[in-house]
Amino acid sequence: MAAQTHLFLCLNDNYGVLLHDPATGATASIDAPEARAIETALAEAGWRLTDILVTHHHGDHTAGIPELKAKYHCRVTAPAGERSPIADVDVRVRDGDVVKVGSLVGKVLETPGHTAGHIAYWFEKESLAFVGDTLFSIGCGRLFEGTPEIMWRSLQKLRALPDETLIFCGHEYTQSNIRFALSVEPGNAALRRRAAEVDRLRAAGQSTVPSLLGEEKQANPFLRADVPEVAAAVNLAGKPAAQVFGELRERKNRA
Ligand SMILES: [Zn+2]
Repeated sequence: MAAQTHLFLCLNDNYGVLLHDPATGATASIDAPEARAIETALAEAGWRLTDILVTHHHGDHTAGIPELKAKYHCRVTAPAGERSPIADVDVRVRDGDVVKVGSLVGKVLETPGHTAGHIAYWFEKESLAFVGDTLFSIGCGRLFEGTPEIMWRSLQKLRALPDETLIFCGHEYTQSNIRFALSVEPGNAALRRRAAEVDRLRAAGQSTVPSLLGEEKQANPFLRADVPEVAAAVNLAGKPAAQVFGELRERKNRA
């Protein structure tokens, strides 16, 4: 039986997601924004928590860890490279490390920039990637602890994953991201398709996450900083992609 996921909202606009392995019954929570919302999601799905896979140290991704750990005695896996401490961690992982959720095998990708030690979890066989606050649908995370060069490298690492990869990110920011993206590439057909789809989903009260990486590559300006049209749109034709990326991020901060 294939891996199962269960996505749910918590806090204001955070996404929680559970990853379940039917073969063994193992279940991971990707990050732990809020213990109660995660317990409710576990009860709905009828799953028992065995693991927490942490992407980065921010409180809206880690606040629920102590309570969940105390209740479920789950294993907590977290990035080794963060500058700020994360409570109750059992396993610290780095780029290329392998994590297991029952029989599901994930690979750790270091994606610094939003935070210094941010990581993503890629389950190749299942075509799933849990990217925290590095990549959003049609957007990317703010650069709290990294330069544009560092973040651009991280985004390129995610962009190199197969098109069919489903991207689970940490927040529902898609509509605001699309407004900005359309100001950069108003004529991008893939972006316009995604905009129409997202309007439809949000009007129906539905989530825009997960998204397909192949579509993000076509429509997300933050994955397209090395496309000449995008550079020209921010008056940086011929400049290095990291500089174009930095300008996009600055403009989004001001938008
Ligand atoms: Zn964050």
